Amino acid sequence: MRTVNAIAATSATDPLVRTTIERRDLGARDVLIEIRYAGICHSDIHTVRSEWGPVAYPLTVGHEIVGRVAEVGPDVTRHAVGERVGVGCMVNSCRECEACRDGQEQYCTGGNTMTYAGVDRDGTVTQGGYSTHVVVDEDFVLRVPEAIPYEAAAPLLCAGITTYSPLRHWKAGPGSKVAVVGLGGLGHMAVKIAAALGAEVTVLSQTLNKKDDGLAFGAEHYYATGDKATFQALQNTFDLIINTVSAPIKMSSYLRLLRLDGVFVTVGAPPQPLEVPAFALINSRRSFAGSNIGGIAETQEMLDFCAERGIAPEVEVIGADAVNEAYERVLASDVRYRFVIDVDTLR
Ligand SMILES: [Zn+2]
Ligand SMILES: [Zn+2]
Repeated sequence: MRTVNAIAATSATDPLVRTTIERRDLGARDVLIEIRYAGICHSDIHTVRSEWGPVAYPLTVGHEIVGRVAEVGPDVTRHAVGERVGVGCMVNSCRECEACRDGQEQYCTGGNTMTYAGVDRDGTVTQGGYSTHVVVDEDFVLRVPEAIPYEAAAPLLCAGITTYSPLRHWKAGPGSKVAVVGLGGLGHMAVKIAAALGAEVTVLSQTLNKKDDGLAFGAEHYYATGDKATFQALQNTFDLIINTVSAPIKMSSYLRLLRLDGVFVTVGAPPQPLEVPAFALINSRRSFAGSNIGGIAETQEMLDFCAERGIAPEVEVIGADAVNEAYERVLASDVRYRFVIDVDTLR
């Protein structure tokens, strides 16, 4: 075992504190990563506060991780010491089910292992990236191209792949009209990626406050959902709507913005059910779908795509002691557009 510095939650209500956690000894196929940056995802906050179910404390979260390979086990072939790498939301899966064999480990039916608050194959509870080091099976470690700015790379591992995967699956590209609901951590990546894929992108945000940003990220149109005229003007317009909002929205209004055969995909996960009126689907053969992160191969494809196309998240880098304040600002939507912890401040 190796003891490393970390930030952890000790209960659902107390602030996160500096502490140490244990990392397992390097197995034959394991990679030891010296973490350099860790992104703050809204899921981290839900999890440490037990909002998505009970978790064991102390708990270190963080599933947007980048750093360098510090050591490799004897059987590692995919990664070398010194390489810049990343880890996202998963660190293991059953590897035998249909989804795993198809490279879609995020839909593993044998139970995949989440990067934190998961139970790994050896029975230990996983601890996330708000720490100086992590040990991960080489198959779940991604190469992070040097062309991506180091501090901006981390949010690609969750926010990037969560939006890239549905955009690719539903074939956003030249000739398609894509709407992105919400311009936060996920939404701003959805806009950048959809625009890079060649789609005509519209942002649907509560207000016009971030309009300049949205257009700079590649959107061609920007509408306020607080304005009822928006839903009138945009009926039967979009091929694909990506919903990044984790609060309830009026589904009937949004579904009617889809044209024939259009698809509404939610990646935001409101705790309450989203109510779908049947006729809003029936009328134009519309679909209502969800999407969960992406597989390992697809995550690598996304990283290479972002490097090639010069796409990176907008980040605000903070020190380890600013995490609690950052959480409050995330909850107040006061971040443009992702907080990233400079893990050197934990050493
Ligand atoms: Zn996340
Ligand atoms: Zn599986």
